[in-house]
Amino acid sequence: MADREIGVRKPDAATTFAADDELFDTRIQCIDCSKDFVWTVGEQAFYRDKKLENPPKRCKDCKKAKNERLAAIENAQRSGVKQRIEVKVSCARCSEATTVPFYPSQGRPVYCRSCFLELNPSILNGNGNGNHAA
Ligand SMILES: [Zn+2]
Ligand SMILES: [Zn+2]
Repeated sequence: MADREIGVRKPDAATTFAADDELFDTRIQCIDCSKDFVWTVGEQAFYRDKKLENPPKRCKDCKKAKNERLAAIENAQRSGVKQRIEVKVSCARCSEATTVPFYPSQGRPVYCRSCFLELNPSILNGNGNGNHAA
């Protein structure tokens, strides 16, 4: 191994981290509103300082909205008030747009109120006579 030089590096391989002046504004598409926003040099430097590896996914507005949403849920949980949720879905039977007060689990059909009552007539009749005991 006579031809191997120990401790000597090629000068162009030595710069593994970028200096501030090598950063430039980056355009990112917001995952919430699909609009482009600018990830500025200053913010990139901040991310690097904090050792954050993933660039932001949301624009400022959506990030703020998300934080407010989380804060509202947190406040509601702290105060013991149940958060009323409304999830937009389309009925699995008639495709009508409707809202349900829960997050439907994947693969489970969700029905609008009228379809739900049609499929579950016992809820309307309400007489538990035990005729249909399984
Ligand atoms: Zn956005
Ligand atoms: Zn329906």
